[in-house]
Amino acid sequence: MKAIRVHVFGGPEILKLEDVPDLRPEKGQVMVSVRAVGVNPVDAYVRTGTYAVKPTLPYTPGADAAGVVTSVGEGVTSVKPGDRVYVAGSLTGTYAEQTLTNESQVHLLPANVSFEQGAALGVPYATAYRALFQRGGGKKGEEVLIHGASGGVGTAAVQLARAAGMLVTGTAGTDDGMKLVKEQGAHHAANHAINGYLNELMQLTGGRGFDLIIEMLANKNLQNDLGLLAKKGRVVVVGNRGTIEINPRDTMSREADIRGMTLFAASAAELREIHAALGAGLQNGTLHPVIGTKIPLAEAARAHEEIMQHSGALGKMVLTVG
Ligand code: NAP
Repeated sequence: MKAIRVHVFGGPEILKLEDVPDLRPEKGQVMVSVRAVGVNPVDAYVRTGTYAVKPTLPYTPGADAAGVVTSVGEGVTSVKPGDRVYVAGSLTGTYAEQTLTNESQVHLLPANVSFEQGAALGVPYATAYRALFQRGGGKKGEEVLIHGASGGVGTAAVQLARAAGMLVTGTAGTDDGMKLVKEQGAHHAANHAINGYLNELMQLTGGRGFDLIIEMLANKNLQNDLGLLAKKGRVVVVGNRGTIEINPRDTMSREADIRGMTLFAASAAELREIHAALGAGLQNGTLHPVIGTKIPLAEAARAHEEIMQHSGALGKMVLTVG
């Protein structure tokens, strides 16, 4: 089978498509024939070799995919050959024609959800759910700001928050991005690339502020977020690419919280909760991943260049296979 292999850490150009041996599932494992792969910013961070997670070389990148189960190891009962599934975590990497997972890392994909949409679920939707509910404590009727709502995690967060009965505002950096954010169910959209948008956001809450902010670029926005919070408000830091100076006083009168999050810290029970909720949302149609960019597997290097440019997002980037 063909797979993208990384032999040395470095820039996008080190991602090369190679022939590698076929995989075989062992006890408790599932083998999936991959039809689409989710590209996440973390895949690019890991590839540089400077991220907290550093795989042993050589390796195949990727944690997200969707496809068809081709064989299962001894003891696997939740899926069988022929099932359409999405993959949320992999033992062998997902930038490949085949991937091996533990049984807990595959989830049935309803017939109304395409493979490309399935590849958009693992990291983005699980992160959005964890940020909104497990870390953010989001509740029906609360006002939530998705600061960076046009990308993979942001569009997922808008859909999940709206389905949960929250009042949703999302930001994007382009007009097309704002349109997309509203189409996903946001009550309001604002442009984070335009001066004065913070005042506009505050006015949308009638001056009260947001109960919850899901932040995609904290090194740019965290200080401003503190000023946008309501009393007892929470900021959940999902994305961050640098440092920022904040005034802690802005947390005091509001009794505000800044909460970090990483999907890597989710327990097995929390992951079960997340994927049960995602499965229900896919089946009832409230969750419908938006695919922005499709790139063939062989051009994974271009995908990594584009995902790090970080402007003008319109949903999720996927690699197509076959
Ligand atoms: P993505 O699809 O590339 O989307 C990036 C988003 O950031 C877009 O909505 C983009 O909007 C927005 N953005 C750009 N400039 C911004 C600004 N000044 N203020 C607010 N938002 C801005 O990436 P993703 O997959 O959604 O991931 C988003 C971030 O979360 C990344 O940094 C990623 O590494 C991180 N992440 C963290 C975890 C975790 O476990 N903590 C998990 C998944 C992802 P425009 O393009 O419209 O400007």
